[in-house]
Amino acid sequence: GLHQVESYDYLFKIVLIGDSAVGKSNILSRFIRNEFNLDSKTTIGVEFSNRTLTIDEKSIKTQIWDTAGQERYRAITSAYYRGAVGALLVYDITRKQTFENCERWLNEMADHAPHDIVVLLVGNKTDLRHLRVVSTDEGRRFAERRHINFIETSARDGSHVDEAFRLILTDIKRQID
Ligand code: GDP
Ligand code: MG
Repeated sequence: GLHQVESYDYLFKIVLIGDSAVGKSNILSRFIRNEFNLDSKTTIGVEFSNRTLTIDEKSIKTQIWDTAGQERYRAITSAYYRGAVGALLVYDITRKQTFENCERWLNEMADHAPHDIVVLLVGNKTDLRHLRVVSTDEGRRFAERRHINFIETSARDGSHVDEAFRLILTDIKRQID
């Protein structure tokens, strides 16, 4: 049969990082397939997924890498970060420790990720209002101190998931233009 050659203006690799169970895989499945899984054991089974978006009239193919659970053992290697131009650093607004560990994740990235990688801090699970322990202000202040952008999302109800990717892609594109 005929093979359509896919064309795009940019190809960006984005990695998902952050503690276990903060919602990384669900942010990805919401963004790629508009799906959410209550069961955390669901494994996507591939190392990355793609979606192409248009930003400022340019088509940007985004290749998003998800962990297969290595974050549990802090065993994310340089291979995971290789060639990445962006990282979504995700924490869970209902678990303080996952927010506090963002400092460690940034240090780990300083050692293993490309030095000019663009980081977006993502406070996930905003649908769990009654369980929130990390305020929006705390998230914003931490991001400001580390000179990174910040957004809150819910993979469950889908709020701000597309915006998170649009935000980081816009930042990356500005940096290289
Ligand atoms: P990962 O380990 O960071 O990839 O986290 P998962 O995507 O596997 O999610 C861990 C658990 O949190 C699962 O039970 C998900 O259903 C749940 N979860 C993920 N995102 C959200 C969210 O935005 N809201 C709520 N209420 N639960 C979420
Ligand atoms: Mg996962």
